[in-house]
Amino acid sequence: MENSKALRTWLDDMNLPHPLVIAGPCSAETEDQVLQIAHELKDTDVNYYRAGIWKPRTRPGNFEGVGAIGLKWLQKVKEETGLKTAIEVANKTHVDLALEHDIDMLWIGARSTVSPFIVQDIADALKGTDKIVLVKNPVNPDLSLWLGAVERLHSANIKKLGVIHRGFSTYEKTKYRNIPEWQLAIELQTRFPDLPLINDPSHITGKRDMILDVSQTALDLNFDGLMIETHCDPDNAWSDAAQQVTPKRLVQIMEDLRIRKETDTEAEFKSQLSNLRAQIDIIDNQLIETLGKRMKISDSIGEIKKQRNVAVLQTNRWNSILGKMILEGESRGLSEEFVLRMFKAIHQESINHQEKIINS
Ligand code: PEP
Ligand code: MN
Repeated sequence: MENSKALRTWLDDMNLPHPLVIAGPCSAETEDQVLQIAHELKDTDVNYYRAGIWKPRTRPGNFEGVGAIGLKWLQKVKEETGLKTAIEVANKTHVDLALEHDIDMLWIGARSTVSPFIVQDIADALKGTDKIVLVKNPVNPDLSLWLGAVERLHSANIKKLGVIHRGFSTYEKTKYRNIPEWQLAIELQTRFPDLPLINDPSHITGKRDMILDVSQTALDLNFDGLMIETHCDPDNAWSDAAQQVTPKRLVQIMEDLRIRKETDTEAEFKSQLSNLRAQIDIIDNQLIETLGKRMKISDSIGEIKKQRNVAVLQTNRWNSILGKMILEGESRGLSEEFVLRMFKAIHQESINHQEKIINS
């Protein structure tokens, strides 16, 4: 798949004065619930009304969605409010039913994107459709897998494509439900600048009070839109209760967001920006150079460890490095979380280098 302006025609043609907004409940629960939320979202910035019809639940025994009956409720939403509709599809039956009920936008969920078999089946079922199809990132931070899914749809001649960044699973405890790993979304954007990129702060944060912040970061990174789970009675939602916001709160979030244009015609702004970007480029190069030097030293240590038959991993030494660097980072305005993650990555690379030497 090549980057091309054609990838975003469907979005550009909407001529929106704000980012694309997809909102609605995590799950369709009852006809009244679906219609009530839709009516409250009717005269807002919301462009597409989302509702989960079949829910992929991690453990069995939880609410797994109302099923096909919910599609009738979404048809009513469209009739009564004019809002276009969006649902998740995970197999051919879902696709066939969605098309039958004239759903406007379909997305592939994070648990489906991980499986090329599932994605291929969905792509085959959708072949040639002119519906908009969005691909959520896989639960694991694997850019190829994410792009591979988009490519399968592209090869099935689906022209209206986009991706949704919903964060990644992690074993570590963090303040996020799914860690954003922004650099992955940025890399995707660098490779496919015209592929519409939508952020899902609801599934990234898992908490409604963090949604504004994550949405703002996404817009600052030139994301094209937001998908935000919205419910009239979030605390009593049948799924994802902690992360849903009320329609009123959604309107407030949209008002509070600073919506920036990607470029500004003012020459001064442009030159300031490019100047700062140039400085960043220089520092990034220095970072890589410095890390390269560090690994060379690490290689020498590997040689010594090999001669002496000493284990690669020296836990005490490692813990003392970490402690010092966290303090050092703090004094320079770097969060403990970032310093830890960065040093873990550096340490891992160092171990890989030394293993290679010891096993050679
Ligand atoms: C959802 O959008 O409700 C959902 C299940 O999302 P994800 O596939 O990102 O977990
Ligand atoms: Mn959800």
